[in-house]
Amino acid sequence: MNTFPPFHDHHTHISFYSALCGTADLSSCVSTGEALKILKNRKEEIIFARGWKNNLYDIPREALDRLPPVAVCNISLHSFVINSGARNIFSKTHPEIIRNIDNQDWVEHNLNSVFSLFTDYGDTSLIPVFMDRLEKIGILEAEDMSVSSEKSALFMADKYPDRITLWAETSMYEKYSEARKYIHGIKIFADGALGAMTAALMKPCRGGSEKFLLRSDEGMRKCLVTAAGYKKNIAVHAIGDAAIEQVLNAADEVFGCRFCFGKQSGVSLRLEHVQMITLEQAVRARKKGIILSMQPNFSGDSVCYADRLSQYYIHANNPFRMLIDEAGFVPGKDLVFGSDGMPHGAAEAAESAFNPPFPSQILSPEELIKGYSAENKSV
Ligand SMILES: [Zn+2]
Repeated sequence: MNTFPPFHDHHTHISFYSALCGTADLSSCVSTGEALKILKNRKEEIIFARGWKNNLYDIPREALDRLPPVAVCNISLHSFVINSGARNIFSKTHPEIIRNIDNQDWVEHNLNSVFSLFTDYGDTSLIPVFMDRLEKIGILEAEDMSVSSEKSALFMADKYPDRITLWAETSMYEKYSEARKYIHGIKIFADGALGAMTAALMKPCRGGSEKFLLRSDEGMRKCLVTAAGYKKNIAVHAIGDAAIEQVLNAADEVFGCRFCFGKQSGVSLRLEHVQMITLEQAVRARKKGIILSMQPNFSGDSVCYADRLSQYYIHANNPFRMLIDEAGFVPGKDLVFGSDGMPHGAAEAAESAFNPPFPSQILSPEELIKGYSAENKSV
């Protein structure tokens, strides 16, 4: 085991992963045959599965239709495949999702409601199991970036007031009543993900292009205005450089160019992932007091998504040395780390931080520990 202090994982999805705990795990599969074999051996009425590596193999609907009701989620949580049996069941309980599940654009805009398919059939009893598991792998505290139901929000606020920080997407927050007071901040999405080839990249390649911006510039401004109106902190998922640019521009326009987020202003703005951030964007973000919330384990995307990224983006991914040495970000202060659950754990975080594909992605042990500390928990 490692000798790290207990980590605070700044970005994961506790309610979603807890529900997923009890599902079939396809993360070790590298072919359709292997995945189908695991699914065939399950005995549940509806088989839920996670960890599908859709960059390695397909799961054809015809093959899946020969099984009992099945719903599969890919490893990056942005792609889903649901067979006919499961569609029949869900069309009664979640009709809107079933009408739109094959439309990737709709899915990207409504990820949290798609997650609710998985969480509504799981229950809060798995949350303690999940939290125990996290503690065993060195993660004492964690932030749930998209609490997927009021029930799980209230459960976590009651049982883990010191160990779990809750975030909710705007549409979910608006549905909550009692849970609202426990929500630390509002989560907004600016683009998709490299895994689903839907990141908003300025220089188009198979991994994405500007067309994957989920909102118009005006739409992003409105989202920030709405979130600020709730007097909550704001976290925006932005992986591609085009998404980051849109959020920075919108933040300037909504809050004013001179506005600085942070302790004095009483509201924080966090950018989640920012894998393809440029030096210019980093300098701009730091001046505004914006916090970057990043995942050392995503440095490996430079290798596992080399099939869809241009040489430029393969090298641009997770530029920790540029952020710290050139733009002046300080781990634990305005640069915080999390896992996004891919995978969880201190040992995995350390391996990705110390032995990434490129020297530009290396973090020192002190930087990793600071970034994974609870020091900046309130942001
Ligand atoms: Zn996430």
